[in-house]
Amino acid sequence: MIHHLCIICILCTGLSFVKKLNGSFCRLCKKLFTSELVEKHVKTILHFDNFAKKVQAEKARTENSKKVNRNNANAAFESEMETRANIARQNNPGMA
Ligand SMILES: [Zn+2]
Repeated sequence: MIHHLCIICILCTGLSFVKKLNGSFCRLCKKLFTSELVEKHVKTILHFDNFAKKVQAEKARTENSKKVNRNNANAAFESEMETRANIARQNNPGMA
């Protein structure tokens, strides 16, 4: 292959920007592995720690969104009860 060594060869144009990637990329650890090393990688402490962090972050995110939904539901319920109380007071001035 001439273009790997030739400086002026037309095939070299931009070739240095192209990387041939054969392997698997771990999105947790941001690392690239050859297929043979993937199985070893997923058993490492680093990967496990990153996995545990990801699971905890997901869990926290889900719980926070549940809390927000619950708060919104409570606020809607309280607002509805307040409206009903106001209507009842208006309809029955003597009961307030
Ligand atoms: Zn990993």
